Amino acid sequence: MKTLLTGANGLVGRAIKADIRLKGSSDLDLTNRKETYDIFKRYDPDVVIHTAAKVGGLGANINYVNDFYVDNVLINTNVLEASRKAGVTRLISFLSTCIFPDEIEYPLNEFKLHLGNPHDSNFGYAYAKRMLEVHSRAVNKQYNLNYDCIIPTNIYGPHDNFSIDDGHVLPSLIHKCYLAKKNNTDFVVWGSGNPLREFIFSKDIGQIIHKLVESGKSFGSLIVSPSEEVSIGELAEIIAKHMGFRGNIVYDKNRPDGQHRKPTDNSKLMSLLPDTKFTSIEDGVCETVEWFVKNFKNCRK
Ligand code: GDP
Repeated sequence: MKTLLTGANGLVGRAIKADIRLKGSSDLDLTNRKETYDIFKRYDPDVVIHTAAKVGGLGANINYVNDFYVDNVLINTNVLEASRKAGVTRLISFLSTCIFPDEIEYPLNEFKLHLGNPHDSNFGYAYAKRMLEVHSRAVNKQYNLNYDCIIPTNIYGPHDNFSIDDGHVLPSLIHKCYLAKKNNTDFVVWGSGNPLREFIFSKDIGQIIHKLVESGKSFGSLIVSPSEEVSIGELAEIIAKHMGFRGNIVYDKNRPDGQHRKPTDNSKLMSLLPDTKFTSIEDGVCETVEWFVKNFKNCRK
């Protein structure tokens, strides 16, 4: 069984094993239909894991909303159609919990994906990703294939984007804590520290994908999360502990908290793969901090 992975250089892609690893943008333009069709024909995979996407922080999503929509629709349409034409019967694509409706009753589950508008700040990205779920259902219905989507919560781990201005909370806090320790300054956390979030270690995603492919079962859409919440304050303490930072953790109340919590319901995952074990946030942060310190010079930040 030959597996092809798109987005092999990303945070998730790095944690997934595959025979053919397509890196994207520099060596292959997945928005280009002919290039994509040619490469899928040439490699002739049995299974495709599709993680490639145009991604960015809040600012980029607002300023380039059209580009996020168009590029992601092109990438997803090309990858799914190229796969189908190359005879791929099994494909797993990546969505994200940030594409769920903005106003929705929590916890999030697989049935709620289309039940309202996404948050206005990323609607280009969100609708393009939602169409990937629609495309998967359509191709399965017409051609009787197994093209499924997983919906992970905040993924973190080695090779993340540790940008302070543009990164997600966990990698940004790791970078800020590193600088606070180095410069002997306060470790400044945005907001009150009270909001709750769920996080999944990238290596856990790699293992879950492997088991899903092995099982051969089709599952439609699937939320992938430990469904355990951690407060931003607890997260900051855990990062400080593993960084060996002994200074003050300061909460900048002038920065927004955002939504208080966005819990997920992982019961579909747990019934599909009942043996699933998640890396604890302590162990995952410890490994990520070690990686960041070691790779500070060359990592994305
Ligand atoms: P969200 O989960 O989509 O809201 O996005 P984030 O990954 O940006 O998490 C945001 C939460 O972390 C909010 O409660 C922020 O106030 C808090 N937070 C604290 N410090 C930081 C930081 O340095 N960067 C970011 N992005 N969020 C922070």
